[in-house]
Amino acid sequence: MDCLFCKIIAGAIPSTKIYEDEFVYAFQDINPIAPLHYLFIPKQHISGASAITAENAEIVGKIFTAIAKVAAEEKLDSGFRVITNCGADAGQTVPHLHFHLLAGIEMGWSANSGV
Ligand code: AMP
Ligand code: ZN
Repeated sequence: MDCLFCKIIAGAIPSTKIYEDEFVYAFQDINPIAPLHYLFIPKQHISGASAITAENAEIVGKIFTAIAKVAAEEKLDSGFRVITNCGADAGQTVPHLHFHLLAGIEMGWSANSGV
């Protein structure tokens, strides 16, 4: 499949691994918008948040479990943000479900600004 993140999972495109288990892979975002910016993705190809169904939704819990584990390891005690962009208006550029983990900076809150 011609999917950038599937290729990263397969090792065909290099990435800096942060976390991996049977279902989830996490790596450093190549263009960080915060001091800490990781991407958490399912190993199974799901195109985005709009493609989550009763059949595949279990992966979302597994991803958030991985995020909590990494957040504890990285001692993100002052907080962090998890974002998923879905579709054109949200600026999704890679059509493989991914959750951005952002931390290390005090963040504002606006639909028009990332951090
Ligand atoms: P989104 O814009 O929400 O679809 O997020 C896609 C993210 O993937 C962006 O933050 C990009 O910087 C990141 N990205 C794109 N290509 C790579 C890559 N080869 N390795 C790591 N991160 C990437
Ligand atoms: Zn994919």
